[in-house]
Amino acid sequence: MGAFDLMGGEFEQVVYNHDPASGLKAIIAIHSTALGPALGGTRFYPYASEDDALRDVLRLARGMTYKAATAGLDLGGGKAVIIGDPKRIKSEALLRAHGRFVESLGGRYITAEDVGTFSADMDVVARETRFVTGRSMLNGGGGDPSINTAYGVFKGMQAVAEELWRDHDLAGRHVVVQGVGKVGHELCRLLHDTGARLTVADVDLDNVARAVNDFGADTADPPKAHAVTCDIFAPCALGAVIDDDTLPELSCAAVAGSANNVLARPEHGRILRELGVLYAPDYVINAGGLMNVHDELRGYNAERARGCVERIFDNLRLVFQHAREQGIPTNQAADRIAEERMLAVSRVQLLRVLPNVSPPR
Ligand code: NAD
Repeated sequence: MGAFDLMGGEFEQVVYNHDPASGLKAIIAIHSTALGPALGGTRFYPYASEDDALRDVLRLARGMTYKAATAGLDLGGGKAVIIGDPKRIKSEALLRAHGRFVESLGGRYITAEDVGTFSADMDVVARETRFVTGRSMLNGGGGDPSINTAYGVFKGMQAVAEELWRDHDLAGRHVVVQGVGKVGHELCRLLHDTGARLTVADVDLDNVARAVNDFGADTADPPKAHAVTCDIFAPCALGAVIDDDTLPELSCAAVAGSANNVLARPEHGRILRELGVLYAPDYVINAGGLMNVHDELRGYNAERARGCVERIFDNLRLVFQHAREQGIPTNQAADRIAEERMLAVSRVQLLRVLPNVSPPR
């Protein structure tokens, strides 16, 4: 399938960047700038083929559009991928070449860290472009976004509790956290502090031991974590954990976690609804990290970023209300909210202002 077929008439721009001297081979995909510049991290990964890299960057860029739209941010969706093993080919020259290509897009795309890239890398990229966020704290960055991602998931779980049990308090609720890495561990801390009961599952036994030690968590077998009877199952490790095999084994009232692309296919959202399991759509509940890097664009203010993340409670409440009123699955309700906001706001942006006078941002 060719690139235009894969873009499916949906993407604004896809750019291939090649700098043979440094070994940079990168693709930048801009899905939508309807709400603002397209923001999304740079994934540095040894893709098996260019086709795999293109498919991944398109999928991820589209996801960023929906995440930013439901988060209420003035951002569009985009993503970059660098093809190669970061441990072998990452260098100052390669990152700076990437920065120059990002700069050449004139601000239509803003990059940040992602799998295989770190804040320190963004500091290098920033030597060539203004259009980069997720920088180190020394350079005005907002620090590790996982902390605010976890806080957003916690606020989202409170919205789940309110929807299911008419009380947002999570004290006494049993939560199974699958994956206790950066986000999962911080989420456990917040849940523990509020009096929730925890079960954790992770393939990394050191991470399991840390959660047991810090929070007195029970443990579950990683491949069977989804089947533990609990109030909330929180996938915080991998995507596609809700699929044809795991769905019949679920024994929870809700699925709400930080992992991206939790549903293997969109129709799994409908099946969750039929099973009476409330699903907190991934890109709505895990937007805390995006909100954190977005705040940096205005000069990072930790309090303001935290305030923005708190709104995930209201964002999810709105999704649940739409789903209830329209009798549709929550993932579909979230998509509709994003699409309606993009349509409404881009229409307003068509209203003319005086030339050379920018509207406030
Ligand atoms: P991480 O790598 O720090 O943690 C992931 C954890 O999952 C690790 O402890 C790993 O051992 C564990 N794991 C891997 N495979 C597993 C399996 N089969 N069963 C159980 N555990 C397994 O990553 P993170 O930054 O904490 O992110 C967690 C998830 O949240 C990812 O899906 C990520 O894409 C998503 N996410 C993260 C952020 C962020 O700010 N870090 C933002 C949005 C979404």
